[in-house]
Amino acid sequence: MRRRQKPDTAWVILAWGLNLIGLVLLASVGIAYLALNPVHAAPQMPNPNPTTELSHSATSTSVPAGVYYLPTITPNPRSTMIVVQTPTPFVLSGGNRPLVIGFSVSGRPIEVYSFGNGPNRRMIVAGIHGGYEWNTIALADEMITHINEHPEVIPNDSTLYILRNLNPDGDARDHGIDGRVNDHGVDLNRNFPTNWAADWDRDGCWNYGPTTGGIAPASEPETRALMTFLQSHHVQALISYHSAALGIFPGGEPWEQKSIEFAERLSEVTYYPFPPIDTGCKFTGTLADYAVSLGAVSVDMELATHKYTDFTRNLRALAVLLDWNP
Ligand SMILES: [Zn+2]
Repeated sequence: MRRRQKPDTAWVILAWGLNLIGLVLLASVGIAYLALNPVHAAPQMPNPNPTTELSHSATSTSVPAGVYYLPTITPNPRSTMIVVQTPTPFVLSGGNRPLVIGFSVSGRPIEVYSFGNGPNRRMIVAGIHGGYEWNTIALADEMITHINEHPEVIPNDSTLYILRNLNPDGDARDHGIDGRVNDHGVDLNRNFPTNWAADWDRDGCWNYGPTTGGIAPASEPETRALMTFLQSHHVQALISYHSAALGIFPGGEPWEQKSIEFAERLSEVTYYPFPPIDTGCKFTGTLADYAVSLGAVSVDMELATHKYTDFTRNLRALAVLLDWNP
């Protein structure tokens, strides 16, 4: 028995030796493969540099100089750069592509769909409060799809622009309270240069999380992208969608008369309240105020909930917007 055990042991040692050599070879091949094919590398984040280009081009507009020389911004806890989830891209059948008018703080594109080619220019802006008011973005997508399938709803003398999501970083961060601000923690509907303030009395105002009006008027790339678009496209009537429930706020401080009439007409067809519910909040730096300063009629209009798009009510609002004679 002992004599036969010796060769057995030798064979076992030889087998283990061969196994080890095999494992080393396999590992080497694996490492070489991974080095050549980094399949597990992190997905590429959008390039934030386009915001720099945008700010250069924006300095050539009538916006006061100096606004765009921003201090170095330190990494921000609101940043969505670390968020793996990205918003679902909106794709139209039929190949109608949006115009990219700029990029968010974290490099997500800001897109405008346009319909028709007439001299009367109307605009819908959704998603200014990001994921907190995600249902406004969903409504814009429903409208874009509807108009794409029924192009006859756009009168021959009109052009309609739909900016479906002004705050894509907030939309990517959270569909709740935390999704309201952009990636600098700024409330974009308080960053426009008309009646701008960095901070405000929170009495009666949204106060569920940290937010500011920005470090300067139009400090945010999302704001500047839309300002540049409005300045160059001569929009005459604009609805900025929000949620929820407070009603329709005309632009202007005090409210501009034609925007009041526009709000009244919209209230008749949508049943959203006008005058809006007064919570005592003082609004500063809003998109509607800025649009009025450019000569447009403009309202902030709130959907009834944070959950539904109120599509049929807003198809009637769309008809009012397209028919409106400013
Ligand atoms: Zn809002």
